[in-house]
Amino acid sequence: MRELQGIAVSPGVAIGEALVVDNEGFRIPRRFLARDAVESELERLDSAIAAAKQEIERHRDTVSEELGKKYGAIFDAHLLMLEDPQLRGEFEEMIRQRHYSPEYAVSRTLRRYAQVFEKLESDYLAQRATDIFDIEKRLLRNLLGRRREELAHLTSPALLLAHNLTPSETANLNREFCLGFVTEVGGLGSHTAIVAEALEIPAVVGTGPFLSEVSGGELVIIDGYQGLVILRPDEETIARYRHEVEENRTLATQLETLRDLPAETTDGARIQLYGNIEFPYEVDHCVRRGADGIGLYRTEFLYLGAETEPDEEVHYNAYRRVATTMGRRPVTIRTFDMGADKVPHLPDPQDERNPFLGLRSIRLALRNLPMFRVQLRAILRASVLGDVRVMFPLVSTLLELRQAKMVLADVMEDLDERGVKFNREIPIGMMVEVPAAVMMLDHFADEVDFLSIGTNDLIQYTLAVDRSNKDVVGLYNASDPAVLKLIAMSLEVGRRKSIPVDICGQMSGNPVYTMLLLGMGLEHFSVTPAAIPEIKKICRSVSIEECRVVAERTMTMENARDVRGYLKEELRRRVPELAQ
Ligand code: PEP
Ligand code: MG
Repeated sequence: MRELQGIAVSPGVAIGEALVVDNEGFRIPRRFLARDAVESELERLDSAIAAAKQEIERHRDTVSEELGKKYGAIFDAHLLMLEDPQLRGEFEEMIRQRHYSPEYAVSRTLRRYAQVFEKLESDYLAQRATDIFDIEKRLLRNLLGRRREELAHLTSPALLLAHNLTPSETANLNREFCLGFVTEVGGLGSHTAIVAEALEIPAVVGTGPFLSEVSGGELVIIDGYQGLVILRPDEETIARYRHEVEENRTLATQLETLRDLPAETTDGARIQLYGNIEFPYEVDHCVRRGADGIGLYRTEFLYLGAETEPDEEVHYNAYRRVATTMGRRPVTIRTFDMGADKVPHLPDPQDERNPFLGLRSIRLALRNLPMFRVQLRAILRASVLGDVRVMFPLVSTLLELRQAKMVLADVMEDLDERGVKFNREIPIGMMVEVPAAVMMLDHFADEVDFLSIGTNDLIQYTLAVDRSNKDVVGLYNASDPAVLKLIAMSLEVGRRKSIPVDICGQMSGNPVYTMLLLGMGLEHFSVTPAAIPEIKKICRSVSIEECRVVAERTMTMENARDVRGYLKEELRRRVPELAQ
C-alpha cells in the first residue's frame, strides 16, 4: 500500500481500477501488444512520424523566414533523422519482433541514441542529445495525443491517473465510466478542478510524480475530501473507505430533505443560493438541489472541445435550455472567459509568457468583436425566455466595462433593426476579480446592475499566486486577511450603492466560510450545485447575529492559519456533521 498526498479539488471517494495515461516528459511503461495489433500499431507509428515531419517543416519555414535560412537548417537535421530508414527499421523491429508498443519502441531507441551522444567528449556533440530528446518528445506527443483522445470514450469504469488533464479533456470525460481522477500537477483553483466538480466526480490534483509506480488495472482509492490517493490499499483501508462511502450516502439523503425549504437563517434572513454551471445539463443538478437560480454560467465551456467556433444557434440553444428550465429564477450568463488555462479557440496561449496576466477573458472578447457579438446576440435573444442577466468577466478598468457595454448596445441596435425581440432592460453585471476593480468599485457600481465576486481569481491576483500551480498552493488561500478585506470592501460598496453583490468563486461553496460570509452581509451565494444542500443546511442552522460576531472576530486576525482554524472550529460547534 502506498499513500500520496495531493490537493483535494472535488469531494467524494472512488474505489476502483486504475487507468494510467502517459504524457510527454514521462517514463513510458513497457506495454506489450496483442499479436493482431502489430499492423495497426505500425500504421499509428507511421502517422505519428508523418505528423511530426509536417510540424518540423512548418517550424523550419517560419524560422527561416524570420531569422534566416541558417537557423531554419537546424530543423533539417531533425527531418533527416525522422526520414532515416534505419531508424524506422529499428522501431519496426521492436514492434514486430518484441511486440513493444510504438511509444516504448520510440522512447527506447531514441534514448539509446541520445546516450551515445551524451557520452562523447565534445561538448558540441553532447548537445546533440537534446535534439534527439526533442524528436522523441515530438513523436510521443503525436502518439500519445491520439491515445489521450480516447479518454472521452472509456467503456468500463476506471479511475483515471494522469500527469495532467486540460479543462477540455476533463470536460469530455465520460461520467459513467470515469469514477474519479488524479493528476500529478495542477492546483486548487485550476479550471480542471472546477470541471471535476461540475462532473461531480472525486478528484485530487498536484500529487507530484507517481505514475511510474502504478500500472493499469491496479486497485486505487481516491479520497477527494482529504486529497489522498492510495495505491494498492490493504483490506482494512478498503473496508474503512467503503464505510465512509456509506456514511456520505446517508448524509446526502438527509440533506435532500432540505430541497424544498428556503435557505433561511434562524433569525429569518432569506439567503439566495444559486448554482454555478459550466454545461447546460447541470441546470438539472441545480433544480434537483433546489437552487434559487444560476449565479454563474461559465459559457466558455461551449468552446472547449468544439472543432469549430460555436455559432449563434449553438449559443442560443444552450442558453434557451438553461433559461427555460429555470423559469422565473434568475440566470446569469457570463460572457466567455477564455485564455490562461482554459484552452482557447483563438490565439495560442503558449505564445504568452504570463497567460494569467495576458490576453484573457474580457480583453480577448474586446479584441475579437465578431465572436463577442455572436455571443451577445444569442444572450439577448434568450433574454425573453426568463430572468436572464449578462455579466462581464475579469473587468479591470472602467474603460473596459464601458467598451463592453457599448458593444452590447450596438448588438441591441442590430437586433432592433432586424425586428428580433429581446429584453432591453437586461440586467448587466460584472465580476469583481482583480484588486483594481475593488479599489474602483464605487465607480463601477454606478454603471452596472449587480456585482459578483470571483474569489478564485481575486485570490490569485491579490496574493500574486498562480491558481493552478501546485508548488504555491499553500499560498493560495481564501482565508488570507488581505482577501477577506477586499471582499468586505466590495460588500460594503454594494450596501452603500444598493446593488446586489454575490460571490461565485469556490470559496462561497466551502462550508468553512459560510458563517463568515453571512456575517459580512453576503445574501447571494453562487456555488457548485453539489454544495447547495450543505450551504443551505448551514444557513438554516445559524443566525445572522451570531455570524456577525464570527465575522468581527475573524477580521481582527492577522494570518490565514488563524482564520481557517477559528472558522473550522466555529463550524464544528454549530454543524458538526459538515466539519471535516
Ligand atoms: C472566479 O474567478 O472566482 C470565477 C468564478 O471565475 P473562474 O473560476 O471561471 O475564473
Ligand atoms: Mg475568474
